[in-house]
Amino acid sequence: MKKTPRINCQECRTQHKCCEFGAWLDLDAAKKILELGIKGADFFHLVKDDSYPSGYATSTSVEDGRCVFLTKKGLCAIHKIDYSLKPAHCKEFPYEDGKLSPFAKYLCVAVKSKPKRKKKKSPGRK
Ligand code: SF4
Ligand code: SF4
Repeated sequence: MKKTPRINCQECRTQHKCCEFGAWLDLDAAKKILELGIKGADFFHLVKDDSYPSGYATSTSVEDGRCVFLTKKGLCAIHKIDYSLKPAHCKEFPYEDGKLSPFAKYLCVAVKSKPKRKKKKSPGRK
């Protein structure tokens, strides 16, 4: 069985890199985030999705290639005010359901920079 790689976000020097595309979250959670009064807070898309508690999902807006909740210092404004409201996908990333997220290879610098293992040559082959 393939081992899930261990990635420590605390050691990441470019934590904002995985926030370039924003995140999906439950519509009711988005409404609570709007009540926090974060400057520039905005959401777009509304889709019916029964895997979310309210039955609807929305996404944080993205401006200039970054989630609108990403502060100038590269931190998440929601996390700073109320961690419990930070989208679950963001809390989990680069994992998803206990496994490495399929998006990790595109968004996580730690996964992208992992050196690829060289294939061992079988003896006698050039
Ligand atoms: S909500 Fe916060 S952690 Fe999630 S993508 Fe936006 S800035 Fe990053
Ligand atoms: S998920 Fe990857 S890019 Fe994002 S903070 Fe963690 S190590 Fe850094």
